[in-house]
Amino acid sequence: MVRFKDIFLWAWQSPQNVLGRFLAAAYGCRYRYSYRGCLVHVSSRFPGGISLGRHIIVGKDTPMTLVHEYGHCLQSRILGPLYLPVVGLWSGLRAWLQLYRPGHYYDSFPENWADRLGGVRHDRYGGRHLA
Ligand SMILES: [Zn+2]
Repeated sequence: MVRFKDIFLWAWQSPQNVLGRFLAAAYGCRYRYSYRGCLVHVSSRFPGGISLGRHIIVGKDTPMTLVHEYGHCLQSRILGPLYLPVVGLWSGLRAWLQLYRPGHYYDSFPENWADRLGGVRHDRYGGRHLA
């Protein structure tokens, strides 16, 4: 049964959901499964991971990657149509232009927020751990 909440969340995140579905198809993801209300698509051809609405697309579905990308899914639920300009654009630019100190990609916005929401804990030495 489709609930009103599910319909609202899909519409609220519709730009991300459409892009996520398209990207998963474009990368020919081998298989997918459900993870905490999100759909995880796995393709060995995909470099890294990305979250678009309820779609998580990863090259390798390690626990740390899943938890981090789930944090981005929660950001998408919170921000709705603002997710792409606020999180997606900034995250993409940071990664593409390497606007971070080497080894500190997850230390600043929006990556540290995604870690916190998803359940990745940062220790005082810069290490990341599953909570
Ligand atoms: Zn991220």
